[in-house]
Amino acid sequence: MYKIMKSHARLLFLPTLCLLLFSCSEADFAGFTSKNAQTVTTAKSNTKQHPKFIRMEEIYNQTSRLNPLQKKMPPVKYKEWRYFWKEKEQTPQQYAGSFPVTLENNRRMLLLRRVGNFSSFEESAFRQTADFLSLYFQCPVRIGRDITVNDFPETAQKNDPKDGLTINSVYLTDKILKPGLPADCWGVMAISANNIYKAEGLSVQYGDTLIYGRAGVISIYHMKSADPQTYLMRILKGASHETAHLLSIPHCTTWLCNMNGKANMQEFDRSPLYMAPDCLAKLIFATNANINRRMTELENFATSNNLAPDYLNYCQQANALLQK
Ligand SMILES: [Zn+2]
Ligand SMILES: [Zn+2]
Repeated sequence: MYKIMKSHARLLFLPTLCLLLFSCSEADFAGFTSKNAQTVTTAKSNTKQHPKFIRMEEIYNQTSRLNPLQKKMPPVKYKEWRYFWKEKEQTPQQYAGSFPVTLENNRRMLLLRRVGNFSSFEESAFRQTADFLSLYFQCPVRIGRDITVNDFPETAQKNDPKDGLTINSVYLTDKILKPGLPADCWGVMAISANNIYKAEGLSVQYGDTLIYGRAGVISIYHMKSADPQTYLMRILKGASHETAHLLSIPHCTTWLCNMNGKANMQEFDRSPLYMAPDCLAKLIFATNANINRRMTELENFATSNNLAPDYLNYCQQANALLQK
């Protein structure tokens, strides 16, 4: 069973097939919350005093203007993410007190890397994803050197009878991405055309991220769709969700939000590309972004890249509320 250090708790997108064997990952993440109860208590008691809590209060006042647009998650169904994992909701103030990864003056860049062979559509979607992430996180995105299967030793890849050449996500994040993280980058995200696995017997997952390790990966192998718009939306959702984990933002369990955990593709498609106000406050806190400029730029991107109407509608309504 994969052993996880406290500071390297991983957050995963997993299909139901593998959930049981992954339980230690999520159990450790839940443990992280309780182990840091002292931090959380301090955060609550010092809300009025410490500058970071005052700043979060100000940010939340901004993001809560979008409260009229937020929707509660429907009751949990059999084999959905929340059926398997009982994660606790983290408040914005708890996040501010959790020493999250944030953008700093000397590290404002996100590094994006490709793994495996991309079709021409996927190549174009990769570039759109780089542009989208730069707006979503309001930071420059640099595209790094491509990673090939030759970068993986035989012990970190396998030929799966159903899913073809499948690479080990732990080797990728720990041995390739993290050591190759430049000093001016706050995080590195890889997009893999190959299927990924975590350990023997765990061959299917959508993503794997070190929430305090600043390195993560999504696999687009199981995101394919005959409809190009659906395929692109899935890639954007997966990449932005995992990248938000790089900023130590955990799953969202109350509201329909990009940070919802997903155990299957139905949940993946239902979960929106936008963040509900609580998670958005965390993103703004970590990136120090201007919320109005961010939302305007995302609306423009949604229009010019023909993103799904529900996302464009959300951006339009959000901008109307923010500019009131
Ligand atoms: Zn996740
Ligand atoms: Zn959320």
